[in-house]
Amino acid sequence: MAATAQLERTEDGWTGVQPDAAWREEVRRLVDEHDAVLLAHNYQLPEIQDIADHTGDSLALSRIAASSSKSTIVFCGVHFMAETAKILSPDKRVLIPDARAGCSLADSITGEQLREWKAEHPGAVVVSYVNTTADVKAETDICCTSSNAVDVVASIPADREVLFCPDQFLGAHVRRVTGRDNVHVWAGECHVHAGINGPELADRAAANPDADLFIHPECGCATSALYLAGEGAVAAEKVKILSTGDMLTAARETKARSVLVATEVGMLHQLRKAAPEIDFQAVNDRASCRYMKMITPSALLRCLRDEADEVFVDADTAARARASVQRMIEIGQPGGAE
Ligand code: SF4
Repeated sequence: MAATAQLERTEDGWTGVQPDAAWREEVRRLVDEHDAVLLAHNYQLPEIQDIADHTGDSLALSRIAASSSKSTIVFCGVHFMAETAKILSPDKRVLIPDARAGCSLADSITGEQLREWKAEHPGAVVVSYVNTTADVKAETDICCTSSNAVDVVASIPADREVLFCPDQFLGAHVRRVTGRDNVHVWAGECHVHAGINGPELADRAAANPDADLFIHPECGCATSALYLAGEGAVAAEKVKILSTGDMLTAARETKARSVLVATEVGMLHQLRKAAPEIDFQAVNDRASCRYMKMITPSALLRCLRDEADEVFVDADTAARARASVQRMIEIGQPGGAE
């Protein structure tokens, strides 16, 4: 029985229960008992996505959390995402089922490293992708998403230096599209996108000449595909760079019988539900984020039973971090419907 299951903490996450009917019933009962809203990122395990109140990308979920009337947010995603929810909802309690669920991209730069980098470029404007810790956001002038990174950088006067972090592929894409050579790019990356490389992308496209190629560069795992598509690795008319919401709309509307998807494999679950008649294939089926998959059914049950792990961000850091997110929202559409 889920209610009395013995849970075990392992290196890869919590184990002990199966995601069966009893588990689903117990999770939903505890969500109600705690006056909580249950949010799941698109890259979560299918059973976690299916039991959540809302699925989406990190920013869209944080905005849902902020507008929710519930007092507790249970965020099934990685740690910086739960932190972003806390930054935007400082008065709510935010829980993550396993605080060990980190992010290799967010960990590519610390607040201390960013302070040192800023000291080397006085007067530069700092633009950070949302995959960053609260400390880094607090040192940032303007946050950005993959959807609006170009607009955010283009809004900065041409003679001001820009420090762009932490994603080197998104940074290179921004440099190319804006034509600016005063954008300095931090050499960070996500371990998942290492598998989405140029030859593999080109080979898969050549082997499936009628397939569309959907790229969703949220979360760093497919920013390399975005960069490579711009380099001409795949025929331009086949490439569709889409937010999550637009990806689901395009899945319903496309005439293609098969679609190659360059993103973390968790997104395939939503796409197959949206358009079951289409053959969706991952460009690289090894593109799976092990941190995202640490949010297991057992971890979620433990979180709700023990009301842990709670996410804290100190008030000063949260206020400064919030300002950088709000500047992004003022400049342009951050892809909130992704
Ligand atoms: S897919 Fe990459 S960027 Fe996204 S959470 Fe995992 S490690 Fe971080």
